[in-house]
Amino acid sequence: MVRTLLLAPPGAGKGTQGERLAAHYGVPHLAAGDQLRGHVADGTPLGAQAHGYMDRGELVPDDLVVRLILDLLGGDASRDGFVLDGFPRTLPQAEQAHSWGLANDRALDAVVSLLVPEDELVRRLLERGRESGRSDDNDETIRKRLKVYNDQTAPLLDYYRQRGILHEVEGTGPVEDVTSRIIDEIDAALQQR
Ligand code: AMP
Repeated sequence: MVRTLLLAPPGAGKGTQGERLAAHYGVPHLAAGDQLRGHVADGTPLGAQAHGYMDRGELVPDDLVVRLILDLLGGDASRDGFVLDGFPRTLPQAEQAHSWGLANDRALDAVVSLLVPEDELVRRLLERGRESGRSDDNDETIRKRLKVYNDQTAPLLDYYRQRGILHEVEGTGPVEDVTSRIIDEIDAALQQR
């Protein structure tokens, strides 16, 4: 049983590693960006509200995202653990998620930060844009998303460091090696629980 969060800039491998960790631990992978893209594709009211922000590389307002993700985390599927990716992304989101987690017996065990140099992030995102056609993987929006990460999400590293649950892992090199490093960190954290 593990409740973990992958906290890293766009292009660091949260989605790929999130899938692999979820399979390893047998828990659901919950990616805020995937959930939001699903709402946009389905044309829901939430999707309609979110999609302009996403296309511009800005964050969707906190209240919309917090409600969406905490509702999902509160469901039965996440009762025995989860791998979260892409949420929380702002301090108000982190604070709300933290209080909610304590109140609902779903507090995080470990937060994993993936370390990848910025030029590598840009290279990977441009490549993903060419391959997948994701509309926000273009040069201008990539720069914007990296800035948003540095300004609004990077402060969460200290937030979780102060709570003693932050684990920094080298995010470059073969995918399997990164996964093993993350699993070692999470397992060590679970041992100390
Ligand atoms: P991602 O797939 O994680 O790169 O997310 C894609 C886009 O979805 C982001 O650029 C934001 O516009 C939006 N998004 C994802 N997660 C969040 C969040 N926790 N808070 C606000 N916006 C988010």
